[in-house]
Amino acid sequence: MASLDTTPADFIRERVQADQATSAFGGRVHTRFPPEPNGYLHIGHAKSICLNFGLAEQFGGRCYLRFDDTNPETEDIEYVDAIIEDVGWLGFTPEGEPRYASDYFSQLYEWAEQLIVAGRAYVDDQDAETISAQRGGFGKPGVESPHRTRTPEENLGLFRQMRDGGFPDSAKVLRAKIDMQADNMQLRDPVLYRIRRVPHVRTGDTWIIYPTYDWAHGQSDAIEGITHSICTLEFADHRALYDWCLEQLTLPSHKPEQIEFARLNLTHTVTSKRKLKALVTERIVDGWDDPRMPTLRGMRRRGYPAAAIRAFMNRVGVAKTNSTVEIELLESFVRAELNTTALRRMAVIDPLRVVITNWPDGQVVMVEAQNNPEDPATGTRSIPFTGELWIERDDFMLEPAPKYYRLSPGREVRLRAGFFITATDVVLDDDGNVTEVWCVYDPETLGGQAPDGRKVKATIHWVSAAHAVDATVHLYERLFTDPPPGSDGTDELSSLNPASRQTLAAKLEPALGDRLEPGQVVQFERLGYFAADLDEPTVFHRTVGLRDEWANIQKRKA
Ligand code: ATP
Ligand code: MG
Repeated sequence: MASLDTTPADFIRERVQADQATSAFGGRVHTRFPPEPNGYLHIGHAKSICLNFGLAEQFGGRCYLRFDDTNPETEDIEYVDAIIEDVGWLGFTPEGEPRYASDYFSQLYEWAEQLIVAGRAYVDDQDAETISAQRGGFGKPGVESPHRTRTPEENLGLFRQMRDGGFPDSAKVLRAKIDMQADNMQLRDPVLYRIRRVPHVRTGDTWIIYPTYDWAHGQSDAIEGITHSICTLEFADHRALYDWCLEQLTLPSHKPEQIEFARLNLTHTVTSKRKLKALVTERIVDGWDDPRMPTLRGMRRRGYPAAAIRAFMNRVGVAKTNSTVEIELLESFVRAELNTTALRRMAVIDPLRVVITNWPDGQVVMVEAQNNPEDPATGTRSIPFTGELWIERDDFMLEPAPKYYRLSPGREVRLRAGFFITATDVVLDDDGNVTEVWCVYDPETLGGQAPDGRKVKATIHWVSAAHAVDATVHLYERLFTDPPPGSDGTDELSSLNPASRQTLAAKLEPALGDRLEPGQVVQFERLGYFAADLDEPTVFHRTVGLRDEWANIQKRKA
């Protein structure tokens, strides 16, 4: 994995600085984030968003949100709306209204005609398989299409017929005429236009020919005056084509430069819209916003603060070689952020009844507990304490194991912010399971201190049974058990964790009943951070546990 202990020298920022020093773009910095609206944004996109918007912010430039909507078959308005919202949620404001590559279809078409007239593009009648086979391969010569020698006049006529509906779908394509023997396969006469009678979300049925990524992307950058067109490493081979296309045109502004950086890969995580979509359509998860999904939607429902995601991206930095980052690092940023912001509350997620036999009948004592020791300004709250409580099932053992210091027969423990109790008896069901623990309490220990100074070895959390709020709590484990899913050469799905979600009926302290904002994250003491569901106030999602697993990984490595 990348060295994360020092901030890696960011070659893109150095490049932008150098460009500013030489006034390469008249001193301007203008980036864009260019999603294809064919899925929801995921944690990988967040890296690109933080980089593109971050550069604009840092260098006093601008950043557009541009939809790369050139594939009407797979694109949908649902995704457009979600992407706009998710970029905002992550904390960034695009310059002006969102842009769309489809807004430039007329200009792109005109430029294609210019290419044809200049003898730099031709109409090919061959099918996709033939074209692909003729490309050859590395060290394998390409084969020129028999249509490559068509005259510009003939090509222009055919291209206009393609546009006007003269041919069935896929019957013809427009190809750049570059070099079928180029070492770079991208330059072996790539396809620039294809025929698709598919209505487009924005242009309806105005167009039946659509530009490919290679023809749309660089030209859209040029139209918008983008200076630094940042993309991921798999486009490095496309850069020569990107430049070639732009060199054929008379541009309104400077020629943008494409810069590639390494994608973000995370352990136990797939970051590919196609694969994430499969999880949704095969109903392995509940939707794009399932809290187990590495989508911005999913992480938001799970309770990840946007600030933690941004801080994580900052830490990971920008590199030129691919690497994989441990998901525990992301989680440690989430935990660190929540530690300072989340209120502390008590909740019991696997309830066992405690009856305090010497508690005065019907008495309710209000005890005071801190809202967040990390932030004293948040003050305290009052919690009702009564003679019947819920505690966590695993905070009691009938026959305590060695080093088990929590409640067991004859053992005294502290109930957080409440009293000391000692277990005296249990009620068992027919199978010998403990269904109730009887205890006595010491009335002198209110607030959790004994006046005689005696100590207890454990403090456990609790909720008054009479006041408890019922809730559903979801605990999550990794969606994929393999560190890189499918690393053994199998399909990712074969390493799906069948136990990635566990659902429990929990008892909450009354303050959790109705006073949380949708999505608000609180710390359930001793259990972790939990987010109130965005729609259902009595459903909670465990965001992260309390243990810093990243620190443990670092220790093991040291
Ligand atoms: P996917 O592989 O998930 O389909 P994509 O690259 O096809 O992703 P786009 O909508 O084209 O999805 O991505 C928009 C931008 O986000 C692109 O500039 C792309 O390079 C960037 N991006 C996508 N995935 C990652 C990632 N894992 N790390 C960094 N940047 C990414
Ligand atoms: Mg893409």
